[in-house]
Amino acid sequence: MAADVDTEPDLDALAAPHPCSRCGEPAMLSVVGFCAACVADMGLRHPDEYASFKSAVSATYGRK
Ligand SMILES: [Zn+2]
Repeated sequence: MAADVDTEPDLDALAAPHPCSRCGEPAMLSVVGFCAACVADMGLRHPDEYASFKSAVSATYGRK
C-alpha cells in the first residue's frame, strides 16, 4: 500500500527550521519571518520595529 506516497505532505520540509529574517537564527516557529525571540525582543525593547512587525502581521493574516 505505498502507491500514494507521492501525495503525502513533505514533512521534512514542514519541520525544517527557517532562518529568522531579523537575527538569522534557525527558528522552528516564526511569524512573518521573525522568530519568537525576536518578536518578544521587539515587543519589549524595540517599539518601532514591533509596530512594523504588527503591520506585517496584519498585512499577512488580515486585521482582527
Ligand atoms: Zn530572530
